[in-house]
Amino acid sequence: MMRRPTRPRAYAPDPAAPPGRPCDMPGCHEAGEYRAPKSRTSLNDYHWFCLEHVRAYNAGWDFYKGMSPAEVEAQLRADTSWQRPTWPIGSLGHTAWDEDVLRDPLHILAAARMKGTQRPDPHQTPAELRGPLATLGLSWPTTLDAVKTRYKELAKRHHPDANGGSRDAEERLKTINLAYAALRSRLGNEVRVAATG
Ligand SMILES: [Zn+2]
Repeated sequence: MMRRPTRPRAYAPDPAAPPGRPCDMPGCHEAGEYRAPKSRTSLNDYHWFCLEHVRAYNAGWDFYKGMSPAEVEAQLRADTSWQRPTWPIGSLGHTAWDEDVLRDPLHILAAARMKGTQRPDPHQTPAELRGPLATLGLSWPTTLDAVKTRYKELAKRHHPDANGGSRDAEERLKTINLAYAALRSRLGNEVRVAATG
């Protein structure tokens, strides 16, 4: 591999950086040692970023061109809103944001919080049975009887003979058979364990 010629450093920490100031990129905890003008109309008003984010910001300068500071802020938030913003909402004069949606648009944080507080559920679906259960349209926990009943229904409905010898039906029946075998073996074992215990 060819080594690229070393270029002079395009960025250096700004001596005027406010000490201890964090990077302005929401969710970033690096020091904000590099400054970038907030907009073309307020070149003396700066964001402070870490090296990675000042590069990203400057690379996006043309993209941000013509946006107001509030719009740029919104854009930065939209790019990173799965992380907790470090800016107070509306710090740039815009207050119309739905704080919760911006902070957690995909409910990832909420899910993570729940995960942290919930104890493991003994009724939680065993991972290896999720596919088979979905194939048979059953939910966990279930019983061997319920599985057998559903299997008979589905096997009848998807049997190639009932579908004009359809290849698709044949494939579906194979999948159903596999799902049934997996569930039967698991539930059959549980019945035996219960009987001998
Ligand atoms: Zn940063």
